[in-house]
Amino acid sequence: MFEKILIANRGEIALRIQRACRELGIKTVAVHSEADAGAKYVRLADESVCIGPAAPGQSYLNIPAIISAAEVTDAEAIHPGYGFLSENADFAERVEQSGFVFIGPRPDTIRLMGDKVNAKAAMSKAGVPLVPGSEGALPADPAEIVKIARSVGYPVIIKAAGGGGGRGMRVVHTEAALPNAVAMTRAEAKAAFGLEDVYLEKFLEHPRHVEVQVLSDEYGNTVHLGDRDCSMQRRHQKIIEEAPAPLIPERAKTRVFDRCVEACKRIRYRGAGTFEFLYQDGQFYFIEMNTRVQVEHPVSEAITGVDIVQMQIRIAAGEKLPMRQRDIAFRGHAIECRINAEDPLTFVPSPGRIESYHPPGGPGIRVDSHVYHHYVVPPHYDSLVGKVIAHGDTRDQAIARMRSALSEMVVEGIRTNLPLHRELMLDTHFTKGGANIHYLEQMVAQRRKAD
Ligand code: ADP
Repeated sequence: MFEKILIANRGEIALRIQRACRELGIKTVAVHSEADAGAKYVRLADESVCIGPAAPGQSYLNIPAIISAAEVTDAEAIHPGYGFLSENADFAERVEQSGFVFIGPRPDTIRLMGDKVNAKAAMSKAGVPLVPGSEGALPADPAEIVKIARSVGYPVIIKAAGGGGGRGMRVVHTEAALPNAVAMTRAEAKAAFGLEDVYLEKFLEHPRHVEVQVLSDEYGNTVHLGDRDCSMQRRHQKIIEEAPAPLIPERAKTRVFDRCVEACKRIRYRGAGTFEFLYQDGQFYFIEMNTRVQVEHPVSEAITGVDIVQMQIRIAAGEKLPMRQRDIAFRGHAIECRINAEDPLTFVPSPGRIESYHPPGGPGIRVDSHVYHHYVVPPHYDSLVGKVIAHGDTRDQAIARMRSALSEMVVEGIRTNLPLHRELMLDTHFTKGGANIHYLEQMVAQRRKAD
């Protein structure tokens, strides 16, 4: 096992990784920007290194600074967390070339899955069903694009091959709007992801977002940890996740789990990963694979008892998976609410000083958060201030525990989406289960009209 790991991330996930390390007896190095110098996880780390100014490009995305921090502290491995450099194949490669272990898949796997067009082709070969759409990236010829869109049928969605984080997507309802939408998505993709390729998919009208968590070791052993429903989204970004996905027949799930495990074996996947699907009218359609730990991993941990972050570390250290599929027992239901520093109805970020903070507790409640009384949420990064996870024997019990937890929780001084979560836990559409990805925005739009 490693003696020391550098955590190339910030916020709640930096703290989460640190906790996994501590339990495994591994020392930790925190790297941080000037804006995060006073952060809790920086103080709790065994060592810390400032890697640059607040702007992410100069700190958390600064590859040379992160590698030299690993060098000066004698860390053996680097955990990238999520976001930032976690799905950057060049970073993974640089880490390995510099003699460190990258806690994640091989760079070529990250590269394959980072280009969604290639990822879809690879998954199709493994027998995973895809959303109908263009075969590969769209050609340059506008007439060809029109033909493709016609054969798929409107509405369509134009997506950046290198996209992520809900960005680089555009829905098109009519042929007249198509050329401009393609051009704009291309330009955006080039600027944001350095890859101009875009592709086209049928825009599904009422799908749910259902994903499958997998773990694979170096030796071809793969298990799945079941599924998660992440349909509660705003701006294509998740705010509530739960495991397992309610109201989907076991048989349909088993088929998809088997395909995901099969796909991992085919591409010799290593580490933790997530296959994301849209689910509509009884069918699963693959949209992308994430080759890293996800924000919502705790709900799968709650129902399986498996520590996903520790597994990532153990796999990277060359250990064999300590369990087989039949050893994994699924117990109860778990729900996660992402508490963001943002206006609950307009979603406008609300950074600033937290004047008062009281996290909830009680049976089945877990809070993953790096904030505290008088912590200042910096304006430079994403707005996640913490996650509340409720686990119960049944979905109803998980919801009841979440309601109770949210009623106890206090975050004052900044705006948060706590009121929205409280409302959603009472919303009959949510509580009955199976709401689709458009539901939350429709509900919020109605609320804003009413206000
Ligand atoms: P990202 O990598 O940016 O997260 P994804 O491909 O995972 O992008 O898509 C993010 C979200 O966008 C999905 O969860 C879903 O809400 C929406 N979305 C993506 N593709 C489609 C589609 N073909 N039809 C309808 N919604 C879609």
